[in-house]
Amino acid sequence: MNASKIPGPKAQQFLDRDRAVISPSYPRAYPFVMDHGKGSEVWDVDGNRYIDFAAGIAVNSTGHCHPQVVKAIQEQAERFLHISSDFYHSSWIELSERLAAIAPFEEPARVFLGNSGAEAVEAAIKLARRHTGRQGVIGFYGAFHGRTMGALAFTASKPVYRQGFAPLMNGVVHVPYPNAYRPLLNATHEDYGQTVVDYIEHVVLKHVLPPDDCAAILVEPIQGEGGYVVPPPGFFPALRRLCDRHGILLVADEVQSGVGRTGKWWAIEHWNVEPDIVCSAKGLASGLPLGAIIARESVMDWPTGAHGNTFGGNPIACRAALATLDLIANGMMRNAAEMGEYTLDALSEIQARHPSIGQVRGKGLMIGVELVKDRATKEPAVKLRDRVADRAFEKGLLMLGCGENALRISPPLNISRELIDEGLAIIEAALTEAEAEGLD
Ligand code: PLP
Repeated sequence: MNASKIPGPKAQQFLDRDRAVISPSYPRAYPFVMDHGKGSEVWDVDGNRYIDFAAGIAVNSTGHCHPQVVKAIQEQAERFLHISSDFYHSSWIELSERLAAIAPFEEPARVFLGNSGAEAVEAAIKLARRHTGRQGVIGFYGAFHGRTMGALAFTASKPVYRQGFAPLMNGVVHVPYPNAYRPLLNATHEDYGQTVVDYIEHVVLKHVLPPDDCAAILVEPIQGEGGYVVPPPGFFPALRRLCDRHGILLVADEVQSGVGRTGKWWAIEHWNVEPDIVCSAKGLASGLPLGAIIARESVMDWPTGAHGNTFGGNPIACRAALATLDLIANGMMRNAAEMGEYTLDALSEIQARHPSIGQVRGKGLMIGVELVKDRATKEPAVKLRDRVADRAFEKGLLMLGCGENALRISPPLNISRELIDEGLAIIEAALTEAEAEGLD
């Protein structure tokens, strides 16, 4: 049972010190001050225990401190911590071979390693421009691709991410994401994904971005920060056909959705579509900073010196990633698929008891729960969502919001059914209390 007053006295001291010295730009959901974690549970500095439905932000894929990951890190730390990317080492090569082997396309792959999701997105966009000799790129409203100047030019989920930072990289055109629950476009097809692709073809490529100037389309297979939005079945096949018609590269940003989270290595595999470049980070090394792009061999044709970095292929991050991939291949991906289905079913039952749940959606352990004031009007229940996340925290559950009014469920991929049940019971209790204060 957690203490009645949270933050506790030790946490409060850290919060005060943090406020004095750390950049005020970080959005903090609530005052959780981590002490340690194990599996899908974490403890704060005052000894309070929480179930972790956040996993960082979908990062601790193998749970907190999995012994195999910790061992791999320890062993590598004894050997060497760094060698410049001007040289070679075996873990970097082994990891690139492993990533190439699980690439979601038939063609042989090449891999570039960096340190974060944003750096992977930057690399993908640079490669797409360099390879095609074209400048324009299409992104989606609601997207999140990171905060560096190039990635930020695509990020379009909240205005605060962009406010005051212009001019960003130019050449980016945004189009609606295929969110069939909240469509921005009038339907031209039964499948709203096809409607969006039609809009790209008949409006964007016709009026503002000639296909010959369009290098790539950058898309999250499941929109993450934008609300855990799953596109309709026709979207990716139609998008692939459009790219093929015009020689445009399809870049899948799998930073949040990849590495087993949705029950497959890459979320785009749910639609049997092969992208040209994949961006990965977050869960790839169980929490160590590591990003990657995996591209078709025929696409990654940039010359020596065209792209690089200091820390790329860090040996400790590579060993952590190799241990992570082993664990995910040997059971955790299957668990993500099974627990995901179980959680979606359980949430549908909770939805039947709570009219404020407008939609439950997701694949594997990437699940969004959208809260509304009224199911018919779908008016977003923004404050209710915030209250539910806060109440859940007070009751012992870490869970983050996403989009304007959704809750995201993204626990470690090895979470047990018992902890899922415990976490869902907390969500329902938090929802019941928060609803009692009104749906606003
Ligand atoms: N792309 C996606 C889909 C993301 O969800 C994120 C982070 O949330 C990023 C890119 C940026 O990653 P990072 O914060 O590691 O730069």
